[in-house]
This record gives sequence, C-alpha cells and structure tokens, in this order.
Amino acid sequence: MSTLPLLETTDRVFVAGRWQAGASRETLPLINPSDGSTLAAIARGNAADIDAAVAAAQAALDGDWGRLTAAERGRLLMRLSSRITEAADALARLEAMDVGKPLKQARADALAMARYFEFYGGAADKVMGQTIPYARGTTVLTLREPHGVTGHIVPWNYPMQILGRSVGAALAMGNACVLKPAEEACLTALALAQLAAEVGLPAGAVNVVPGLGEEAGAALAAHPGVAHVSFTGSVAVGKLVQAAAARHTAPVTLELGGKSPQVVFADADLEAALPFLVNAGIQNAGQTCSAASRILVERSRFDEVVSRMGERYRALRVGPALDDLDVGPLISARQKEIVEGYLGLARDMGLRVAGQAVLPASLPRGGCYVAPTLLAPVDAGHRLEQEEIFGPVQVVVPFDDEADAIRIGNGTPYGLVAGVWTKDGSRALRMAHALKCGQVFVNNYGAGGGIELPFGGVKASGHGREKGFEALYGFSTLKTIAIKHD
Ligand code: NAD
Repeated sequence: MSTLPLLETTDRVFVAGRWQAGASRETLPLINPSDGSTLAAIARGNAADIDAAVAAAQAALDGDWGRLTAAERGRLLMRLSSRITEAADALARLEAMDVGKPLKQARADALAMARYFEFYGGAADKVMGQTIPYARGTTVLTLREPHGVTGHIVPWNYPMQILGRSVGAALAMGNACVLKPAEEACLTALALAQLAAEVGLPAGAVNVVPGLGEEAGAALAAHPGVAHVSFTGSVAVGKLVQAAAARHTAPVTLELGGKSPQVVFADADLEAALPFLVNAGIQNAGQTCSAASRILVERSRFDEVVSRMGERYRALRVGPALDDLDVGPLISARQKEIVEGYLGLARDMGLRVAGQAVLPASLPRGGCYVAPTLLAPVDAGHRLEQEEIFGPVQVVVPFDDEADAIRIGNGTPYGLVAGVWTKDGSRALRMAHALKCGQVFVNNYGAGGGIELPFGGVKASGHGREKGFEALYGFSTLKTIAIKHD
C-alpha cells in the first residue's frame, strides 16, 4: 500500500482494468526533485507489458467500450472530469512532488486535465460527417471513425495536461488508449487510470504502462496493433517514434520543443506585457515546450524592458514544490546539468546577466535547483538564442524594425508559439500572418494554456494538432461511403 495521496499502488502497470505486476518484475525509482529523496518505485514496463496493454485495448474496442454510443462515451468522460475535480488537491500534491512544480501550478494542471475531459466529453457526440453532392443516383456520406488502439507517449513536464489533451480527445472519438508516461514523473498517469476505473470506464479503454522510453516507449511506437501514435517530447525521440510508426504506416502526431519568441514593439503596453514576458519564461522552471525563451524588443525600448524584467527576476522566490513559491526545482539532476551547461556557455561567451534570482542557502541539498537567469543583450543567431534550453533562462534580443523582428522571430529551427505586443492593430495582424508557428498570441501569451485552442507546431516543433475541437479530427479517420441507387 502506498503512502502517497490517492494511489493504491505505484509499482504496477494498469492493464485491462487491473493493477498487474510488470512482466520484468523490475522497478525503477521515482525521485522527488525538490530534495532528491525517493518518492516511490514504479514498474519497469517492457515490450511484453505493451503487448498485453495493446491486446486489452483491442478487446475493449471489440467489447464493452466499442459498443457505447458517442453520447454514452461523453457522459463517462464528464463523470471522469468531475472525479478529477474532486481529487484536484490530491492530484496536485502528487504532481508537485513528482515534477517539482509549485503546488498552485500543479493544481492548475489538475483542473486543466478535468477541463479536457469535460470539453471532450461534451464534444464526443458532436463530431459529424457530411453528405457530398456527387453523381445523379448516388448518395455520398462521410463517417468519422476511431483509429482503434492509440498510443500516447507523454513527457514529464506537464503530465496531467498532456495526457488530458491527448487521452481525452482519443477516448471521445472512441479509441482505446495505451499510455506510456515518462519515467521521471508518472504518478498522476497512474492515478488517472484508477479514477477512470472508479467512474466506470470499461476495462481496457485506458491502459497505463510506465517504464523507460527505449523499452516501453519504443515498443509502443513500433507495435503493429497501434493505429495512431501521439508523442510529446524531444525532437530526437520524436523522429525515432515517427520512424518506428512508419514501419506499420501508423499516423503520428508530434508535439516537440520550441524556442518561442515574444516580440515587443516600442508602442507596447509594457505594464500589461511584463508579467507575461517573465512568467512565460519561468513557469514550470522554464520546462515548458511553449516557453517564451526569447524576448525580442525594439531597440528604442530595449534597455527599459531589460531593466524592468531584471527587477522581476531578482524578486523571484525559488524553493521546494510544496512551499509553493514562484519557481521549483528542475525535474532531475540531468536536466539541471544541461541547463547549467548553457549558463556556463553564456559566461564563457561573455553574455551579460541582466537579472538573476538568488537561491536561498536553506534549499534542500539533494534538490535540482537552478537560479532563474535573464541574459541580455543576446544577438540573433547566438547558440543561446537558437537552442531550446528547457530551464528558467530567457534571452533578450534587440531588433530594428518589423522586417527584422520577423526575420529573427522565424530564425530558429522551431515554430511552436509566438507573442506580439503592439497597439498597432494592422501590424499585429501582419506579424500574426508572417510568423511561422502554430499559435500567435497578440497582447497576451498563453504558454501552453487554452484547452479549446488548437495547438501544435511547424518545422522542428512537430506536426498535427492537439487541443480544441481540431484534435478530434486527428484522433479519428474519415470513411467515405458512396451508395448507388435509382
Ligand atoms: P523525451 O523525448 O526524452 O521523452 C518524452 C517521452 O518519450 C517519455 O515518455 C520517454 O520515456 C519517451 N521516450 C524516450 N525515448 C523513447 C524511444 N526511443 N521511443 C519511444 N519513446 C521514448 O523528452 P523529455 O526529456 O521527457 O521532455 C522534454 C522535451 O519535450 C523538450 O524538448 C520539450 O520541448 C518537449 N516537449 C514538447 C511539448 C509540446 O507539446 N510541444 C510538451 C512538453 C515537452
């Protein structure tokens, strides 16, 4: 019996509606990044567990789950949403301990997961096909059908939000899911499986197999019984997943990283912009795919913006997740090393630190803390302006005019999100059209938020769209029926 809130057990896989020992009988330690302690042991799921999970999902499609009407599926998802809302505090505690994020962020994530199931529950019976004018004596109609068994490979940074958006939409369309959470943080995925069973989702509709990426994750991507793979994570692994799925021609949605800009023109309302500029860099300790890790500022207001952002950085409070301050630890010692490597590079290359939080001496010694750091000025093309750092580090880049802002904004391999701050409506629209990415926010910046808003990238940020109604199309396939009659 586990002492963690909510969870009956942590060291099992959840397959066919039951907790089961993983085939390897081995476990992996789950580390609390706030202090380095071991939180729990999780199952080291492997290819045999993935086989069992895919078989259970297929059996659900052929049985109780597949027989439900769209409205019945929707009602179950709404029930799950209510159960998640009731359990939000416990889920937030689990996520905070597991990921290291401040409690208020973890609670927001729990409520976002509830909202995904509510949104997709409500949408389940509202996805419709068409009739198409065609030849005389022929009636043509289209049906939206589930893919079948869908695979979901989820990273550690926003486990609840990411599984909510992908599993929620997949279930709404009638797919049965096999979920492989990240080995660094998977407690809320296990809790979700338990809650789904509690509210009566038929066995096998949701299966959760924790384990290592190269074992359970690779087996899921390559499994011939999986008809669609949704992957969120790094570019390198995304390419492996796409190649593995290509072997059995399964479609893939890739949500990869970013180096997203917020572009601040001289006429911007700086008071309104400032909280968004900084928060979009330090939220979740910068480990957000849509983090605004580049702030582009028109030269005439560059010094003012840098100085005002620097003040905010110096005021940031860093501490353990359960202390619920502004910034928690990074997910792992490895991630801390990566981010510190970039800060070392910045030092060696003579970049100026324009603002930095102070790490209190009282921080637990085993925790993975990095001081949030603002670097300015950083020129377009610099490594720190080009590469995704995935930590609480922002660079501020000067630009001369609109054309320069577009060139710099589009000048990385990524294209996920962008923000534009200006009072000139025509310019805002020109920028929104010119920026190559999946979402543009004008005079606001919703780092990752917005259940209803289609989300995803172009270029190295990936392809396919999750969130919003659009995701329902991705998690279904279209069948055309042509009926010849007199
Ligand atoms: P990662 O790619 O290492 O891992 C993501 C998931 O893939 C994990 O569940 C992992 O176990 C699994 N995995 C690892 N190797 C695998 C393999 N060979 N086959 C199949 N699955 C495998 O990424 P990460 O370090 O967990 O997350 C950080 C990265 O994810 C960042 O680059 C970030 O930008 C990106 N990310 C993107 C989004 C988005 O929506 N665009 C959201 C969150 C994170």
